[in-house]
Amino acid sequence: MMEQYHALKREAGECLLFYRMGDFFELFFDDAKIAAGVLDIALTSRGESGGEAVPMCGVPVHSADGYLARLIRAGHRVAIAEQVETPDEARARAKAEGKPSSKVLVARKIIRFVTAGTLTEDTLLEPRRANRLAALCELRGRVGLAACDISTGRMELEECEADGVAAALSRLGAREIVAPEDWPDAPYEAIARPPGDFASERGRKRLEELHGVATLDAFGTFSRAMLAAAGGLLAYLDHAGRGSMPFLLPPTVNETGTVMAIDEASRTSLEITATQNGERAGSLLGTVDRCVTSAGARLLAEDLSAPLARRAAIEARLALVRLFHEDPILRGDTREALRAIPDIARALARLVADRGSPRDLGQVRDGLAQARRLNDALTRLRDRPPLLDELLPQLTGHGALVDELSRALVPSPPTERGSGGYIAAGYDAALDALRETSGNARRAIAAMEARYRSETGISALKIKHNGVLGYFIEVPARHGDALMGPDSGFTHRQTMANAVRFNSVHLHEEASRIAEAGGHALAAEEAHFEALVETVVTARERIAQTADALARIDVAAGLAERAAEGDWCAPQIDDAPCLEIVAGRHPVVEAALARAGERFVPNDCGLAETDRLWLIGGPNMGGKSTFLRANALIVLLAQAGSYVPATSARIGLVDRLFSRVGASDNLARGRSTFMVEMVETAAILARASERSFVILDEIGRGTSTYDGLALAWAVAEAIHENNRCRCLFATHYHELARLAESCDALSLHHVRAREWQGDLVLLHEVAEGPADRSYGLAVAKLAGVPPEVVDRASAVLAKLEKGREETGGLAAGLGDLPLFSAAVQAEQQECDSLRDTLSALDVDALSPREALDMLYQLKREAGES
Ligand code: ADP
Repeated sequence: MMEQYHALKREAGECLLFYRMGDFFELFFDDAKIAAGVLDIALTSRGESGGEAVPMCGVPVHSADGYLARLIRAGHRVAIAEQVETPDEARARAKAEGKPSSKVLVARKIIRFVTAGTLTEDTLLEPRRANRLAALCELRGRVGLAACDISTGRMELEECEADGVAAALSRLGAREIVAPEDWPDAPYEAIARPPGDFASERGRKRLEELHGVATLDAFGTFSRAMLAAAGGLLAYLDHAGRGSMPFLLPPTVNETGTVMAIDEASRTSLEITATQNGERAGSLLGTVDRCVTSAGARLLAEDLSAPLARRAAIEARLALVRLFHEDPILRGDTREALRAIPDIARALARLVADRGSPRDLGQVRDGLAQARRLNDALTRLRDRPPLLDELLPQLTGHGALVDELSRALVPSPPTERGSGGYIAAGYDAALDALRETSGNARRAIAAMEARYRSETGISALKIKHNGVLGYFIEVPARHGDALMGPDSGFTHRQTMANAVRFNSVHLHEEASRIAEAGGHALAAEEAHFEALVETVVTARERIAQTADALARIDVAAGLAERAAEGDWCAPQIDDAPCLEIVAGRHPVVEAALARAGERFVPNDCGLAETDRLWLIGGPNMGGKSTFLRANALIVLLAQAGSYVPATSARIGLVDRLFSRVGASDNLARGRSTFMVEMVETAAILARASERSFVILDEIGRGTSTYDGLALAWAVAEAIHENNRCRCLFATHYHELARLAESCDALSLHHVRAREWQGDLVLLHEVAEGPADRSYGLAVAKLAGVPPEVVDRASAVLAKLEKGREETGGLAAGLGDLPLFSAAVQAEQQECDSLRDTLSALDVDALSPREALDMLYQLKREAGES
């Protein structure tokens, strides 16, 4: 057995091997140790002849799904090795091969790899979250990226620069990533796959075959890098499913520039779809989501992960939200109708992947029927927004299919099809006749019981049924002898302590009729099931469209609900680089404060081309960070097509959104926090454009005061002069205020605080002008630092401040600094004089001596500069 096990384990590679033995999946060796730890089940051992004991553990087959889910969540992949023949077949095979049948082992095969990105089972999937698998590879400096969610069939292709990979992956939220094993720059968590899988021509061919088309032109224009990635993705799916392909819709292209770019660090810091602890509750998504369907919730997560960058598309979404916002009755009715709609996208994917059940067919039926009803209600509206007009036709057109499914299926079909009973009466006359036959036979048996009682005079005689004997006649033990006679018409089957069991010719006949009719009925139901699945599969693309349209309507109605609940406003999208927000709030902090019975203080923000960088000072805990994030989230919500928590908002389209917090605790990744802070800041300086929006929270905090101030100063200057983006910059360095003297589009602001009767009151109000002082000691007092420590700190502070007055303080001399642009230019000029000399040089005309002189001269020039 161990030989067979090892062969399968080699095939399973890094995956844990679930080895089927009877009613259990067993795991051995290291697999067993890992699984026992993750699943918290007993680790036992198995003695191997002549060898050491082998560690093992097992999970029951009937509850394997729950265990699989936990292993996958813990980051493992699992190979399922099933028995592919019965013990009888194994013995027959052994006999045919001339081997002793006692030694033979049931053949086993890996039938599937269960991995995070290839799940379709309802029990293993999170309903409100997409489940993506991504493949990527590099082709001539460009990275192709293919992603799919086989639980809904969606497939997306895109291409990006090498440095855009992390951002793209975090936007997609891929659960599993594959990449060629010979690619040195592959993301570290990627599963290495054979490079041959990632060939663009093969990718194209596979896609064409999969969708039965001669060319992919109808689906869009795909670059070679995209096709190569698609090839890698399809090859991996093929491998994981052991040759059976899951449900995939034709691929769509994610064009660059259509969505707002948000890199991984900004995404994490803004807590868009998950908090820093990885939880949905407490994230922007968790606070905004009012969707009533899982598909809607998944789409909302995508919208927030990839806000749009095109004005027309944003306005189209906003118009749909407005429709539901302005009409609360329509909103209520629509949400009520949507609530009744099952997750058709996932039911469909299971049916297409051949893992469907009668219940999935029932869900498709109910979902499509409900979609039709929703369409009827919404078509009656006048002045429909264009997006709704686009969606409505997708809700209908399934009349024939819904009729067929309604006639064919019982109202609530079961998830198991083994015992039948899901095909409705009246759908198939032959099936009805079979059911009639077994019904008649059952009635005949009931009549037989009454007859036997009167014939034998034994009133306690019963006809019973069990799994081992089938139907039998049972009498109490004391009446047993009366029926034992050879001509009694009964044959003895079993004597129990209290009862004796018999058979009779008539009973046997009726029982056979039931069994036979039952068998035929099951086969008939099975045939109908397959035919119905086939009909659904044929219509899969249209059904998927309907599911998408329903999700879009749910998102819009849900956002309208959220807006009404929180008194949000419709943002106005503008082409000018402005950001005018009146009474903006941070949705998550506001909700948290509301739960504690506290009020959020709304604040205005007014960035424009001539006033694009706000420096915000003020005490710790004063609300700087919250103000920064509130504005970033408002921009994000607006471009995702949502209303925003403000009284009014005019938002100039943002192409990239950046959020950085100084020296956050990111040691988990093994880099010092300050290093992380600088790497992230460097990325902003390299990428932010005039259309970007940046929030910087206490940049420079992670190092010594002098370094920190110097860096914060230089970063603020660079953003002002070079990037010229809109930026909110929170800092506790008062000294930065002097930047306002040299940077004309920079203005000073602060969060207000007051000392009242010796106590600090934080007002959380953003006001114009520099912060007057830092209130550090007052904050310390507020935080509960003992009074004697605060007193001592006051004394130290007084000394320091005196010193500052005498020397001019930390920022003494900063006033003499040349302007940022002038300083950079001066350096470049020196460098340029070298360049000029070099380019004027005719190297071929130089004698060796002259060349050497020239080198000395150039070196002197460089040394001077
Ligand atoms: P800072 O960045 O200035 O240190 P934070 O933005 O982290 O301050 O705010 C500290 C706390 O103050 C928040 O956790 C929140 O409870 C509260 N707070 C911040 N802004 C507001 C506001 N506008 N209204 C009410 N409470 C606020």
